[in-house]
Amino acid sequence: MKYSEAGYNLEIDLSTGGIEREPTDPAWTKDYLGGQGVAARILWDRVPPEVDAFSPDNLLIFSSGLLNSTPVVGANRTLVNTISPQTDRYSHSIMGGFFGVEIKHAGYDRLIIRGKANNLVYLYINNDKVEIRDATHLAGKGAQETADILKKELNDSRIQVASIGLAGENRCYMASIEHGNSSASRGVGVIMGDKRLKAIAVRGTKDIYTANPEELFNICNRMIREIHDNPHCGDSMAHGEGDQFHVDNFAWGNARERRRDFWTKEVEDEWLSVEANLRQRWTGCYNCPKDCHQAIKTPGRRPYSQKCYSKLTYAMAAYEGLEFNYDIIGITQEYGMDAYATPQVMAFAIELYEAGILTDADIPDFPKTGAERFYYLVEKIARREGIGDILANGVYHAARQIGKGAETYDHNTMKKFEQVPIKLSMLNHPYFVMYATNEKMAINQTEGSFPQVPIADKAEREDYVSGWDAVPDERFKKWLLEWEPRTHPPLEASINIADWNEIMHYVDDAVGVCAFLSSFRNQFGGRAPYHINNLPELINLAAGMDLDPKSLWRAAERNRNLVRAINTRRGLRRVDEAPPADHWKHRDPEAEQQLLDAYYDLKGWTSDGIPTAETLDKLGLSFVKDDFIERGILATA
Ligand code: SF4
Repeated sequence: MKYSEAGYNLEIDLSTGGIEREPTDPAWTKDYLGGQGVAARILWDRVPPEVDAFSPDNLLIFSSGLLNSTPVVGANRTLVNTISPQTDRYSHSIMGGFFGVEIKHAGYDRLIIRGKANNLVYLYINNDKVEIRDATHLAGKGAQETADILKKELNDSRIQVASIGLAGENRCYMASIEHGNSSASRGVGVIMGDKRLKAIAVRGTKDIYTANPEELFNICNRMIREIHDNPHCGDSMAHGEGDQFHVDNFAWGNARERRRDFWTKEVEDEWLSVEANLRQRWTGCYNCPKDCHQAIKTPGRRPYSQKCYSKLTYAMAAYEGLEFNYDIIGITQEYGMDAYATPQVMAFAIELYEAGILTDADIPDFPKTGAERFYYLVEKIARREGIGDILANGVYHAARQIGKGAETYDHNTMKKFEQVPIKLSMLNHPYFVMYATNEKMAINQTEGSFPQVPIADKAEREDYVSGWDAVPDERFKKWLLEWEPRTHPPLEASINIADWNEIMHYVDDAVGVCAFLSSFRNQFGGRAPYHINNLPELINLAAGMDLDPKSLWRAAERNRNLVRAINTRRGLRRVDEAPPADHWKHRDPEAEQQLLDAYYDLKGWTSDGIPTAETLDKLGLSFVKDDFIERGILATA
């Protein structure tokens, strides 16, 4: 019997209509745990760099985390991985909610989608019954609208649906896959649309077995109460009383300008009242006592569930208020558009227009205000009409397609992706390392175990490190205690902090635990429920494994190197590893190069950021080494 797993992958070939149920490989569970780890192995084996993102041979993989569907609280993440057309790299995408859990109860650890359908289709999975069905009647329907239609048609409100909107159908690069209160963004909706797959509707009623159910249940029963009461977990933005931190410290417009004088008591009162008026209720994800999402209803729009930082991204990019933000999300979520990239693309277009690079001939009848311009542009982009056809490829590609100096306005992308519009004066060293070397889509997929900034008050520092159970070793306590305001941690500390932060995300992304309960939230108070030292016990009780903190770290390290290898094979090198040029006022190029050298050394990578033969052998990735040697990426020993 397999514990904590369903034991099967569901393989769907949309070109041939083939449906296969393949047993999972226990050796891969042992090596990569599950979730994103196993998906990376599948993509490594089956999608070599010769396969283009839009090829039918590209795979779109929906994985359920290893701990999903067990009593482990907040284990509910669906990992969606593919090769992104925007970056030509591995796409890291994660969604919460209920979808990944339902997949597992239907009897599958992951759905592996290949090929392309001739017409728009949807996938209907009801335990062992799996059908590819015609979806032409859903063409042009909104993402949530599609879910509602399918639940009605299939006569089952308990069905979980992941769907794309118009943006995905039109292969916009910023297209997301929407699912209830969550979404998978950044390079995955476009592939679902390319495969002509409008939606996946899943219903599962099978049991998932755990190795030691009684002990696991007792621990989780205690933890669910603790998590409910713990202020150091969940999405801090969701219930925050104010948004001052983000509006002060993140950039407005096309990631250009800080507005330190924007936030006043009047703004705070107004925003709180807007929010209270539009909110219908709070919601959360499967088996989690937190309620990080608010159901929002704006006049004339379908109700939707607002997530995380999307609360501010449109407002700040358009120089508008909270009411505008909530209203436009009512459109963009139905179109299935990523709330990080889309506003940045629209602000970029406005900046080009104001600079005279885009003209009235490019954008006829362009309105005057930020809000009207955003409403205008979102329609163009989602439909790929006129200038929208270029903007739908994201800032990096659009800038190069437009030319005429537009590239100089591409100042917030890295590795071809729009980044969170941070605008701070000093780039601290751990953050430089994380920004430069990660291959994810946003810094919040990398940061989170160690505080972002030093704690000024020494007594508070002492308090923070006292009983700080999350640390992998005592050095991190020392580094935090010695970190003074307006200084960088020493080089060794900086690279290890960056490493710890990232590794914890790789753990979560394999086992399916929500980062708001783990990797992202240990930075705020250091008391998030999950960390490297207590997750092994839960994994062991659920999956019957024999992990300790060291071997869990090693598995995450293996996954991290495998993702690195996929991207290395697609051309990623040191030259790509630089944060957006004007994110920060003060930079230190010499120190940055020293940090890169030291970090690569710590990771066992060459000075060009390529995992060495020794590292790959040590991690059980000798097949990667052999491939690298064959391709001339690594020299023969
Ligand atoms: S902490 Fe929030 S986002 Fe995470 S699983 Fe719970 S409700 Fe969902």
